Amino acid sequence: MHRIDIAVIGAGLSGLTCARRLSDAGAKVAVFEAAARIGGRIHALRDEQGQVLADLGPTWVWPPHQPVVAQWLDRLGLATFVQANDGDAVIEGYHPAPVRAPLPGQDGMMRIKGGPAALVQAMAAGLPDGMLHLNRPVTRLDPGRNGLILTDAEGAQVNAARVVLSAPLRFAATRIAIPAAPTALLHAMRATPTWMAGQAKAVILYDRPFWRDSGLSGRIASRIGPMVEVHDHSAPNGQPALFGFVGWPPEARDPAALEAAIRAQLTRCFGPDAPQPNSVTVQDWSREPLICTASDHMGAHPDLPPASLRQPHLDGRLHIAIAETSTRSPGLIEGALDAGDTTAAALLTSAGVE
Ligand SMILES: Cc1cc2nc3c(=O)[nH]c(=O)nc-3n(C[C@H](O)[C@H](O)[C@H](O)COP(=O)(O)OP(=O)(O)OC[C@H]3O[C@@H](n4cnc5c(N)ncnc54)[C@H](O)[C@@H]3O)c2cc1C
Repeated sequence: MHRIDIAVIGAGLSGLTCARRLSDAGAKVAVFEAAARIGGRIHALRDEQGQVLADLGPTWVWPPHQPVVAQWLDRLGLATFVQANDGDAVIEGYHPAPVRAPLPGQDGMMRIKGGPAALVQAMAAGLPDGMLHLNRPVTRLDPGRNGLILTDAEGAQVNAARVVLSAPLRFAATRIAIPAAPTALLHAMRATPTWMAGQAKAVILYDRPFWRDSGLSGRIASRIGPMVEVHDHSAPNGQPALFGFVGWPPEARDPAALEAAIRAQLTRCFGPDAPQPNSVTVQDWSREPLICTASDHMGAHPDLPPASLRQPHLDGRLHIAIAETSTRSPGLIEGALDAGDTTAAALLTSAGVE
């Protein structure tokens, strides 16, 4: 059986950060990712050349308030820009017709040049060749003579001295058999919501940011929907776009009906003479089988989960690193980077490496 020092399950931002820290310190690491791509909840709409047009998962970071984000952006040489918010928002559902009014932005709310996908790519670019294994869903973890034995969906096995679980915890609790795990650990995993997993995000591409011509910010705040919150998503000198969070519950998201309702909402808010979108793309995260479970459809924000999820288990052989377990911004990009960093530091300390 193939033997490695540390296996990381999941190549989202937490798993990649952990692997990067460990590998930079000289550890022999392998990352097993169930999907055909890295990034997990970080995902982008791209053009035919692979250039990022818009974010389908997260968009924002708050570097002045998120020191771990600020450090990693600096270390990876990634630039940021301020979320556009100049002009009036359109507010609908409070008056007979939509009205315009300024809506304040959030202090420190920034976007990463190239989107969070650029952060994931830069993180992974520092990993040695052959460390990442895509299309390798881990289905089982068992104690072995030296560490833990990982079994994947094809039945292939790897023996790792230590394992870092970087898959969404509710999903992992139902899909990865860990017979030796204490019942309390499995219970804590099932009780941890995966942030934004039940959400759907609509990305709308245009030829130009026409809303700016009439002093609008591109923002919509709506009690009618289907998009409850819309923001300017244009990149400087890049693709003009809006994005919106869909308020319809997962069971009501028929794709054709949703797109028609989004188009109707945009006409309602920007007027019948506004340019028609070039495209409307909806990323429905509730249908992502490797991220979302039925329990996540309600969309609860993760509270800080029990300390047991930040401690090693199975005699120090199983560690957990996922955005939701971080004590800093649980569920957010800052949390994912922090979970990866913190878990890597604990593994290195226990192995006697600084
Ligand atoms: C629509 C949306 C908007 C968001 N907006 C923001 C925002 O603006 N700002 C912000 O800070 N955060 C935001 N977030 C949250 C942010 O995306 C997450 O904090 C972050 O991406 C989590 O990274 P992670 O690595 O911890 O988890 P994930 O990205 O969930 O990664 C887990 C990985 O594990 C893999 N996996 C699962 N099961 C297995 C298995 N059995 N074997 C191997 N691999 C497996 C998955 O395929 C996935 O790649 C948003 C999320 C969504 C969905």
